[in-house]
Amino acid sequence: MLRYGVRAMLDPSSPVYVPVAARPALWRFLLGFARHCTPARWTRAMAALRPLNERAVDAFDELAAGGVEAATSAADPFLACFHGPAGQRSLLAELTELSELGQKIDFEALDGAEARSRNPALSEHVTAAVELHDQRFIDPPAFVAALARAVVERGGRLQEGCEVLDVRDEGDAVRVDTAGGSRRYDAVVLATGAWLPALARRFGIRVPVQAGRGYSFSVAADSPLPGPVYLPDQRVACTPLDGRLRIAGMMEFRGPDEPLDPRRVRAIVEAARPFFTSLGLDERRDEWVGSRPCTPDGLPIVGPTRAPRVFAAGGHGMWGVVLGPLTGSLTAEAITTGRVPDELRPLDPLR
Ligand SMILES: Cc1cc2nc3c(=O)[nH]c(=O)nc-3n(C[C@H](O)[C@H](O)[C@H](O)COP(=O)(O)OP(=O)(O)OC[C@H]3O[C@@H](n4cnc5c(N)ncnc54)[C@H](O)[C@@H]3O)c2cc1C
Repeated sequence: MLRYGVRAMLDPSSPVYVPVAARPALWRFLLGFARHCTPARWTRAMAALRPLNERAVDAFDELAAGGVEAATSAADPFLACFHGPAGQRSLLAELTELSELGQKIDFEALDGAEARSRNPALSEHVTAAVELHDQRFIDPPAFVAALARAVVERGGRLQEGCEVLDVRDEGDAVRVDTAGGSRRYDAVVLATGAWLPALARRFGIRVPVQAGRGYSFSVAADSPLPGPVYLPDQRVACTPLDGRLRIAGMMEFRGPDEPLDPRRVRAIVEAARPFFTSLGLDERRDEWVGSRPCTPDGLPIVGPTRAPRVFAAGGHGMWGVVLGPLTGSLTAEAITTGRVPDELRPLDPLR
């Protein structure tokens, strides 16, 4: 991983971008990340993530069963595609290792022709693939809108476009200041993504959170894609969305408020182009950059802080969508019962 990281820093077409003149906070994150690049730390992190992964999909079903109109779609087929054998070998080794650690994963190795028979949009450039079974995907904007509607329908109040300037523990309540005024609450969950440290520091959270920025856009496909396609070597994910294909990729370590850099979009386009027969890659819509909140140990930051009424829920890096509903459910349990669920112990915000 470290060798890959250094190579990626020096290669302008790499899916990972680290500015040469990195800020001190970024160096702190990178050094912490390097310290965690050992087999022992990886195994420890995976042991912490396994019980969460096991319940992650059920948490989506729980929302749906509770009347939230937030649908998931079966990813059938879900193909990880490669040019050449090395990438397939390395993904198979990783999946095997995860299985040995107890993570349930059903997968099978395919050659290029088998991959094309499952997804005809793939080109001859694909020479090897891995099919992952029992996976799902969502339409993120529709999903979040459905969650918001459900909160309002149940009597919750949403205040949008409103920056929280300060959060203070006053013992019998927590005070939240915004430009529009100040209010007191019984409990507060800090869930401000890559901006988490700004409000969380005063509550004893020292784990660095670095924006790992990803880019996405949508393109038209000649015929609808039967399922998502992931290109692990290029770090590019392609998901059917609303009759189009949403393409996402890149890990750009810059500040979360920096503007979109069109060079990263072009890098994703050129990385994806050879893998598909006919995609409108030059007629893109919805170009977007967003921040994955990354921690040096690869673990989220979820649970109570130094102030008993203030909780954190963040730092999920690349997995904030899949782990979102379960994080919400476990955080609610911690707030309402005063007892931290076992699954959250390794994610202790004060670690
Ligand atoms: C291109 C891309 C692809 C991804 N693909 C996947 C995927 O396939 N699967 C997956 O599981 N995850 C994926 N992720 C990661 C996932 O999106 C993140 O892990 C997740 O969004 C993190 O959720 P969050 O709520 O912690 O932070 P965010 O989603 O960033 O939300 C934090 C919110 O807090 C707001 N905020 C910050 N500070 C303040 C303040 N002071 N006052 C008020 N509001 C504030 C921000 O504006 C933001 O809206 C992807 C991310 C990217 C960028």
